[in-house]
Amino acid sequence: MVAGRRLQSQFGGMKQIDDKKCPFCGKPNGCMAGDPSCWCNFESVPTGLQALVPAELVMKSCICRECVLAWKADEAGFRRRIDSTESV
Ligand SMILES: [Zn+2]
Repeated sequence: MVAGRRLQSQFGGMKQIDDKKCPFCGKPNGCMAGDPSCWCNFESVPTGLQALVPAELVMKSCICRECVLAWKADEAGFRRRIDSTESV
């Protein structure tokens, strides 16, 4: 669980894309984009989670592992958090 840890939206009018940041939590995603040894090549990102990535960030910003694990642990809770950050 990630209780007590706040997800913050990175899209408060800011259009700059930082492909080193997770599109959901805004923390460094630790992804070595294009590097075959990156964890994201081994840990599959659920399609339901991929579908939540903002269109402009698809295939640009990697989702961080923490968010993938959070999704797997509590999909409904994760969706709620994303909804609440996006509606601000
Ligand atoms: Zn994340």
